[in-house]
Amino acid sequence: MDSFSEAWGVICEYCKSKITEVAYNMWINRIEPVSLDFDKGQTTLIVPSDFHKDTLERCYSVLLNEAFETVFGTTFEICFITPEEKENKTAEDSNIDTDSIYEYTFSNFIVGSSNTFAHAAAVAVAAKPATIYNPLMIYGSSGLGKTHLLYAIGNEIKKNNPEMKICYVKGDEFINELVNAIGNATTEQFRQKYRQSDVLLVDDVQFIAGKDRTQEEFFHTFNALYEDHKQIVLISDRPPKDMKVLDDRLRSRFESGLLADLQPPDIETRIAIIKKKANSLNVPISDELTEYIAHKIKANVRQLEGVVKKLNARYLLNNEKITQTVVSEVISEILNNDSSPEHTVNKVIEEVARTFGVSADDLRGNKSRQTSIKKPRQVAIYIIRELTGIHYTEIGKIFQDLHHSTIVYTMKKMEEKMQTDSKLKETVEDIIKNIRDNN
Ligand code: ADP
Ligand code: MG
Repeated sequence: MDSFSEAWGVICEYCKSKITEVAYNMWINRIEPVSLDFDKGQTTLIVPSDFHKDTLERCYSVLLNEAFETVFGTTFEICFITPEEKENKTAEDSNIDTDSIYEYTFSNFIVGSSNTFAHAAAVAVAAKPATIYNPLMIYGSSGLGKTHLLYAIGNEIKKNNPEMKICYVKGDEFINELVNAIGNATTEQFRQKYRQSDVLLVDDVQFIAGKDRTQEEFFHTFNALYEDHKQIVLISDRPPKDMKVLDDRLRSRFESGLLADLQPPDIETRIAIIKKKANSLNVPISDELTEYIAHKIKANVRQLEGVVKKLNARYLLNNEKITQTVVSEVISEILNNDSSPEHTVNKVIEEVARTFGVSADDLRGNKSRQTSIKKPRQVAIYIIRELTGIHYTEIGKIFQDLHHSTIVYTMKKMEEKMQTDSKLKETVEDIIKNIRDNN
């Protein structure tokens, strides 16, 4: 198994099947898996409080022991720690990463023609930080291994240079931290934290586009690190040229290093991924069914993994034989998951809000800041109709009961505008592509 959190999912399923839902939600569901050490036969789990820890030790240790044994075929000593204890432990031992990122490594990343270049670039940067490609930007659709490669770079650098300060942040976290720092008047600490790092790893950097103050702050952080010859690695769901509302100064910084894209895996790579994941979980999936899965799921490694995990859960928990029927069921569960119209509507609102740098609430019309919101709202209405085909009256409801004639009018206007305004057309197409890719 590549990641402990995957196995944790199966352990949870096991526990869920043995106790009441209330007890499960109260005690088991709130545990966060941290690490699993086969050599020491030890596992560490974070629990919300001392009280939680006590209860688990008294009432649920038998169940958890049983679950670990069922899933791993061997017993583990379970250590519960509270978030405070974890922080102290981390401070004591600088070799322990704060995140359980060690599970994403180069050794468990499967290389195929769709990712050779990005993988090679990541390996090169990890071997010699800040000497060859700076910044390195890896981009590609959801579920293709961007975060995996980013963590692998961090892990590899940490392994070879334990003294280096590696800072990992996601674009949206960066925004939140900055907002908090401004609120608490701690922007100086915020700046120091990032500017003192030797390696800055930024996941999902596309989120900062369109946020003026964040872009400004990020621009200065970027320059400070770059001038100091520190490695910067950026992950994005699209190349800089397609980040429409990105500040031009940042765009040129992002483009100044190496850009590497990740493409959806080809059939051989998909088969290899299914085989590897199935092997590590010990789920017997025949060659024929492996090929079947690889033909059905083409564009997303996360979904491929999802199928294997679900098959494993059914095999392990229900003792089900893995047949064509079971596989087909699991595939359709995975593919239909989250493709409901409501989900798509939410995605559209989120994505349009992000693209235009407005808030989702404003876009839905919960506050009246009409003028700045007019254009993004028209775009959102147009895309919702395009993607879901839901009725005009229904679309009106999403925007605080706009009359259906307004929706009809907006659709017509948008179609006209897109014929003359190529930038608008591009923006709309971009948003649609992004939502489709991520669904
Ligand atoms: P992204 O950040 O691009 O959305 P992730 O890095 O989170 O995607 O990858 C999704 C899942 O697929 C992760 O569990 C990751 O380990 C796995 N994965 C993606 N690509 C590969 C690969 N080439 N080899 C092995 N596992 C992969
Ligand atoms: Mg990711």
